[in-house]
Amino acid sequence: MTQKFDNLINGTWVAGASYSPNINPSNLSDVLGDYAQASAEHLDSAVQAARAAFPAWSVSGIQARSDALDKIGTEILARREELGTLLAREEGKTLAEGIGEAARAGNIFKFFAGECLRLAGETLPSVRPGIGVEVTREPMGVVGLITPWNFPIAIPAWKIAPALAYGNCVVFKPADLVPGCAWALAEIISRSGIPAGVFNLVMGRGSVIGDPLVNHPGVDAISFTGSQGVGGRIAQQCAVNLKKVQLEMGGKNPQVILDDADLAQAVELSVQSAFFSTGQRCTASSRLIVTDAIYPRFLDAMKTRMASLKVGDAQQAGIDIGPVSSLTQLEQDLSYVQIGQDEGAVLVAGGERLARDNEGFYMAPALLTETTATMRINREEVFGPVASIIRVKGYEEALAEANNTPFGLSAGIATTSLKYATHFKRHSQAGMVMVNLPTAGVDYHVPFGGRKSSSYGSREQGKYAQEFFTTVKTAYTLS
Ligand code: NAP
Repeated sequence: MTQKFDNLINGTWVAGASYSPNINPSNLSDVLGDYAQASAEHLDSAVQAARAAFPAWSVSGIQARSDALDKIGTEILARREELGTLLAREEGKTLAEGIGEAARAGNIFKFFAGECLRLAGETLPSVRPGIGVEVTREPMGVVGLITPWNFPIAIPAWKIAPALAYGNCVVFKPADLVPGCAWALAEIISRSGIPAGVFNLVMGRGSVIGDPLVNHPGVDAISFTGSQGVGGRIAQQCAVNLKKVQLEMGGKNPQVILDDADLAQAVELSVQSAFFSTGQRCTASSRLIVTDAIYPRFLDAMKTRMASLKVGDAQQAGIDIGPVSSLTQLEQDLSYVQIGQDEGAVLVAGGERLARDNEGFYMAPALLTETTATMRINREEVFGPVASIIRVKGYEEALAEANNTPFGLSAGIATTSLKYATHFKRHSQAGMVMVNLPTAGVDYHVPFGGRKSSSYGSREQGKYAQEFFTTVKTAYTLS
């Protein structure tokens, strides 16, 4: 019989209103378990529990919080292979990518175990004699955390860890497609010594659980990662309710390849950026902007390298690229390959569904050439293993094309020129800039986020996370 996994509400495992199967995208006959679908009433109970737990937790003391976060991080790191395997099985990242992501989640908890000991304030003299001024940070209250399916353990970790570190209570709604990692993380948190109600897991659909979470009067702030469409609607709802909100959304990240680039390095980082993790990263590069003189050599080398990529079961040794995560996403990826060709692009590699021993959502990474900046494939986020090349004359045109997008998450440049690298770092309109590195692949102790339509609100990760998860108080004392 398939195992059932329940929601965690007020320290108790609570049965769902119904259950839905969690299916392995590498093998559609493999069911990881049946995961609870919460009702709106469950969501309300979770918010009430978080509200009730907040007064005590907010003044619980930083040693208790640090110890709990450290315990969670230690366990995740110790179980990284098991959790990484679960991640590969439910989301379709390769085993190496899954284990890497699990380790990242563990390190994030360890980082915030330290950060909550370092929450500094300020003491200033007043402009009025005989008065002292203190500026301190206090927790926001009850925070609702809503996460996407593509990083099923790292993104929950980088929201939950700072939320708890700074004294907030949490209601966490993971993506409906990947409840397995969320449940495993919640189970670890439930044994960390954190009091009942401080952390609650409520699984279910966005329309059933996400929407009431955003609109619940008992929730003080919403941190969301996902698509631009859903994020935009959440921002509007939070504005109406005067609720603090933080949104991390999509990207259409450029990877510039200049004539003077190291060719082998440029090809490797382009393949990495565009196709690893099946292209399902907000920081993936789907626009390869290549200058004239290197273009023929770059294209040949890309085709050769792409022919060597092994697409297959995420848990199998030697696989470079796992399956697409769902049928809906696969259909979207394939449709964009067609849209690109209908617009005049030329498909030079991949772009078709692949059959493997197991039935799964496999797709050959696609490369399109002869594309222009106005085509839909260069303006809209595909979120799959689909990249296009935009050919340009030189650096100035490359920079203009890189910035010619409504998004602004990550941007990369491959060059041996210090002058161009320095100029690009300064003039790229992205929140994160990479020189001779893939657009995806970031550290956990520094800020993460973008500009334009990619992000809204303060940055996530590193010490910058305190901007969102705390509120500032200014106190005056007559001496
Ligand atoms: P999505 O469809 O926007 O969903 C994100 C989350 O929002 C899911 O938990 C979803 O629940 C929930 N949701 C859906 N409708 C909602 C509503 N009306 N109210 C409240 N919550 C709602 O995004 P996705 O397909 O999971 O993820 C892919 C997107 O995430 C891409 O655009 C990618 O670029 C972006 N992303 C951004 C970052 C970043 O840091 N910038 C990182 C990773 C991914 P369901 O699962 O039930 O739909």
